[in-house]
Amino acid sequence: MTEEYVGVKFATKFVKKEKPINKNNENLIAYSKKLYSLNMMPDYGLGSSGNLSFRTEKGFIITPTATHTNNMSEDDLVEVLKVDLKKRKIKVIGIKKPSSECFMHWMIYNKMPEINAIFHGHWEKVIKNAKRYKIPSTEKELPYGTKKLGNSVLDILEKGKFIIMKNHGFVCVGKSMREAHDDIVNINNMVKFNF
Ligand SMILES: [Zn+2]
Repeated sequence: MTEEYVGVKFATKFVKKEKPINKNNENLIAYSKKLYSLNMMPDYGLGSSGNLSFRTEKGFIITPTATHTNNMSEDDLVEVLKVDLKKRKIKVIGIKKPSSECFMHWMIYNKMPEINAIFHGHWEKVIKNAKRYKIPSTEKELPYGTKKLGNSVLDILEKGKFIIMKNHGFVCVGKSMREAHDDIVNINNMVKFNF
């Protein structure tokens, strides 16, 4: 079961080992902290389970791997400039390594030019009840950080902007971080009234 080890499944090349500069960094951190406070990115010890990103001119800026969202700062963010899916290599600007799910983020940005923000978390309440809430869900549980997982997500993003990766988490995409956030708030309200 080598696919299930916890860690980053690609080689990272640091073009510059410094924090990426962007005026939206603060928003990314604020939204991450909000999702964390709502229990949508639970912390299992190694760090918070989830990752958020927004599109930039050169690629996208994403939250790092194995970081506790509560203490996250701009120094933790990573700009992904290039992804080679086949060779499993990425080029970044940042001090830390990006989230292991950066392949999935890259695949979504590549396929969906209208999408500028991706929020992903392990929101247990919703993962377990996708059917009940009629939220589109992938059919199979697939290992994180793989192309298969990315493709299975892309397939169902046609059905809705908030979807469930089976037994794993949710993915919410938006034209902006605000839009993705608002969709998550709507789902959260629905879930609250249903319990
Ligand atoms: Zn995940």
